[in-house]
Amino acid sequence: MTTIIDGKQVAASVIDAVKAAAGKLEQEAGVKTGLAVVIVGDDPASHAYVSSKSRMAKECGFTSIQHTLPEETTQEELAALVEKLNADETIHGILVQLPLPKHLNSEPIIQSILPEKDVDGLHVVNAGKVATGDLEGGLISCTPAGAMVLVRGIRGDDLSGLNAVVIGRSNLFGKPMAALLLNANATVTSAHSRTKDLAATCRNADILVAAVGRPQMVKADWVKPGATVIDVGINRIPAPEKGEGKSRLVGDVAFDECAKVAGAITPVPGGVGPMTIAMLMANTVIAAYRKAGLKAPRF
Ligand code: NAP
Repeated sequence: MTTIIDGKQVAASVIDAVKAAAGKLEQEAGVKTGLAVVIVGDDPASHAYVSSKSRMAKECGFTSIQHTLPEETTQEELAALVEKLNADETIHGILVQLPLPKHLNSEPIIQSILPEKDVDGLHVVNAGKVATGDLEGGLISCTPAGAMVLVRGIRGDDLSGLNAVVIGRSNLFGKPMAALLLNANATVTSAHSRTKDLAATCRNADILVAAVGRPQMVKADWVKPGATVIDVGINRIPAPEKGEGKSRLVGDVAFDECAKVAGAITPVPGGVGPMTIAMLMANTVIAAYRKAGLKAPRF
């Protein structure tokens, strides 16, 4: 029997733990966890993401502040806002929604966020800590952190003796995911667009993680029987069966056929996606505990 990993349910239990941790911090240390979300411009998808993050922060009992800046905001104005939030004692986490409008350069903005407030885990200090195996000292990028919670739910904390293949080597996901798997003692292969015979490489994986951005690329005969398959891809494809001009979301894994071979598999939507926002909340409360000089909970 294949386990269909219910990311919504796992994310809900992470959120419950975050709420409890935030409540305890407020009761015992008088500290209310604060998250500031910054959005520039009018992109509807980004606005939808930001509203759900702000809503979730409120649900977790955080102070949730949203800064909505106009499209014509300059680099200097955005940098000044980050500077202000860095100095604000009531804010423990800062998130600048990406992508920024084309005239803005996101990299210096992200790198100007104090690493201890970088709840997206994108600052080089946080990326470096993950790369060097210092998982207790920094903030881990939310999507790989969430994917690891799902892997641990199936395979446990110690992945000794297991082969893991991560398809994709982005800074946002592939590299930190490979580092986290390695840290959990898996034997890790990072595959990418130049990998020769990707199917054969994947067939060796006890844990197969796909983060490519190519709809349903991973086929059933790429999957080792019993493997844990984590599908990070989010792709919109036409769905004429739903009506003219309609579309639907699919992952990088051909779900129906791979589910017949895998031991456990994440669906899209409802797999890794809900974990990202849950881990953002987890990172924010972790940042608040550390700022208060207390041992942060583990999620
Ligand atoms: P990215 O920066 O575009 O990286 C894609 C990676 O896939 C690159 O390393 C690329 O290799 C590799 N690749 C491209 N074509 C390939 C092929 N034919 N065979 C093997 N590897 C190939 O993307 P990303 O930011 O990591 O995101 C990947 C996917 O995850 C996207 O669908 C994105 O929407 C999704 N995502 C989801 C969440 C979530 O919350 N669930 C969060 C982040 C991302 P090269 O390095 O050689 O070019």
